[in-house]
Amino acid sequence: MSKEALLDHLIGLGKFQKKGAVAPRVAQLAVSKGFDNLNPVQQGILEPFLSEKCAGSTDPKGNYTNCTKILSDEELLNAYEESMDNIPVCESCSSQEAFYALS
Ligand SMILES: [Zn+2]
Repeated sequence: MSKEALLDHLIGLGKFQKKGAVAPRVAQLAVSKGFDNLNPVQQGILEPFLSEKCAGSTDPKGNYTNCTKILSDEELLNAYEESMDNIPVCESCSSQEAFYALS
């Protein structure tokens, strides 16, 4: 169910609105019917949303550290839920930022 939970969360964020009229409806369909019950074309529309690259971390001096980790499914959902500004970062970057916040 992790894909559906993720898509449900992304719908709430309005992620699909920018992608035209079809994407939001297909996302809604995935949530109600289950992602695996969609046809391959519909799954293809949603596929790009199911994974996202970590946003990386920035230290207090503004130095940006790039991160190449790809977050997907449950991991991406957790990253979204933990992010205050809806920018998903991986666990390692998020603990790095927490460390900066304390120092
Ligand atoms: Zn990261």
